[in-house]
Amino acid sequence: MRFSVLASGSTGNSIYVENDNHAFIVDAGLSGKKMEQLFTKIDRNMKQLSGILVTHEHSDHIKGIGVLARKYNVPVYANAKTWQAMDGLVGDIPLEQRFEFEMETVKHFGSLAIESFAVSHDAADPMFYSFHENGRKLVVITDTGYVSDRMKGIIRGADSFVFESNHDVNMLQMGRYPWSIKRRILSDVGHVSNEDAAIAMSEVVFEKPTNIYLAHLSKDNNMKELARMSVTQTLQSCGIIAGEYVHLVDTDAEEPTKLVMV
Ligand SMILES: [Zn+2]
Ligand SMILES: [Zn+2]
Repeated sequence: MRFSVLASGSTGNSIYVENDNHAFIVDAGLSGKKMEQLFTKIDRNMKQLSGILVTHEHSDHIKGIGVLARKYNVPVYANAKTWQAMDGLVGDIPLEQRFEFEMETVKHFGSLAIESFAVSHDAADPMFYSFHENGRKLVVITDTGYVSDRMKGIIRGADSFVFESNHDVNMLQMGRYPWSIKRRILSDVGHVSNEDAAIAMSEVVFEKPTNIYLAHLSKDNNMKELARMSVTQTLQSCGIIAGEYVHLVDTDAEEPTKLVMV
């Protein structure tokens, strides 16, 4: 199993996962054209896609879905409530390309198992995915206001995980956003801060090599260096030294991370 975080941040999200027989993306939150450019950068072709797995209906996750589904005949997977919420946002997607992927279920594609699980976010029925093959595990979680014990259980033992490190609380509080938006981001159905992300990470990593991708950074209320520093410090205060067996990897709003084995 190999993967790349194609793009991540408040401006658009998509993650690519493949094995020898299948290729999926989790969300397509950038325009069709930008998505094609990202695929070129990892030397892959969208014609090979087995499916698009949708997490929730916010535009930074679904912007390119309609265009790509129609142009490349890609099957799209989402739960029933998300399908309903996406109606009118993604244009027509032919019935034969619409598939239901219900919450807390597993689908098997040959040797690859994909599992869906709930997050706490202000969308119709938001969920994220974990990928399993030959004892290796990749988990993707962003867009959640807090990290529940259930979510921690899912991440535990992952070889790689993509995890939200959305904002610096001070930057958000001092920033120019109206109070209603600040309150939404900080709420239990908003986004996870750098510190809260690190605390959750410290509770799920074991002494084995783990790659943690810091994802969904806010354009206005975070910076790569700040997220990395803040996560590193909080991990350290919990007795975990980044660089020993836990490796932090930056993601970018426009540049894919290297396509690597999970
Ligand atoms: Zn998002
Ligand atoms: Zn969202």
